[in-house]
Amino acid sequence: MFLRKAFVSVLAAVLLLSVSAVPTSAMDKKGFKVTLLGTGTPFPSMTRFGPGILIQAGGQNLLFDSGRGVTQRLFQLKMPFGKINHVFLTHLHSDHVVGIPDLWLSGWLGAPWARRKVPFAITGPEGTTNLMKGLEMAYAWDIKTRIEDQNLSKVAISTAPTDMKEGVVYNKGGVKVSAIKVNHGAKINPAFGFRIDYDGRTVVLSGDTKYTENLVKNSKGADLIIHSVASIAPKLLKKSKIMRAILSHHSEPEDTAKVFNAIKPKLAVYSHIVLYGGQKPADLMRRARKTYSGPLVVGKDLMSFVVGPNSVEMAK
Ligand SMILES: [Zn+2]
Ligand SMILES: [Zn+2]
Repeated sequence: MFLRKAFVSVLAAVLLLSVSAVPTSAMDKKGFKVTLLGTGTPFPSMTRFGPGILIQAGGQNLLFDSGRGVTQRLFQLKMPFGKINHVFLTHLHSDHVVGIPDLWLSGWLGAPWARRKVPFAITGPEGTTNLMKGLEMAYAWDIKTRIEDQNLSKVAISTAPTDMKEGVVYNKGGVKVSAIKVNHGAKINPAFGFRIDYDGRTVVLSGDTKYTENLVKNSKGADLIIHSVASIAPKLLKKSKIMRAILSHHSEPEDTAKVFNAIKPKLAVYSHIVLYGGQKPADLMRRARKTYSGPLVVGKDLMSFVVGPNSVEMAK
């Protein structure tokens, strides 16, 4: 009995500690911050997790794509999953959505790193509502069991999905999110990038895309652009049909340079980085630098950027 009591008080102390270590609302009201949760692709890298970008603006936490490992990265940031206000999807390729069930289901639990109290709000291209319906069906046993066994909230596990079209898809508390149609290949339709406007500042996420005028047109005035990129060694391309197919769906560094030269952002960052055949981040820079000389960074997981009124700074 005594042991049990001691265990419970230790557990309570641990829980208390982990709650007080969570500085979620540390962002001030006018803060505008972008954090790369995962800069990778379907490739099961230990250093580049699946696609996911956290944008904090106006006191809101918005997640763009939910790839493999997004929950671990949020945990590293001490951001309880329940604090994510809204999820947006660029497109429904599996690398961008496999982390949804984890975020949605684990985020519902009562632990301090979870605790969602409201329905799981998610906006994405046509098929998003279907995806969420399917997930509710796939995880029906877990949902039913935890409601009965743990008395978890029915409301907080419900989903609120929206299928979107190009244009403004979210406008709350001064944060405006617009979907931009991009070109991820003729058969990969629809695919979007996003433009996030807050307090006179703008962040653009390219999503997965080849060079497209529509992205340039809708990115005018962007302070920060996060762009996907691919570099595959010519030798490998020559012998591999799969590699040629992968490359035909993405932007090469020279393509991104064209975008950056047109919109002249305060900072451009690569994320969703496709490297094959021994290509390295330095190869991305070398190729982009042939025509683009502005500020450019090859992203890493957990890198973050503060979008200020006059500058974009890498956060410590
Ligand atoms: Zn992708
Ligand atoms: Zn894709």
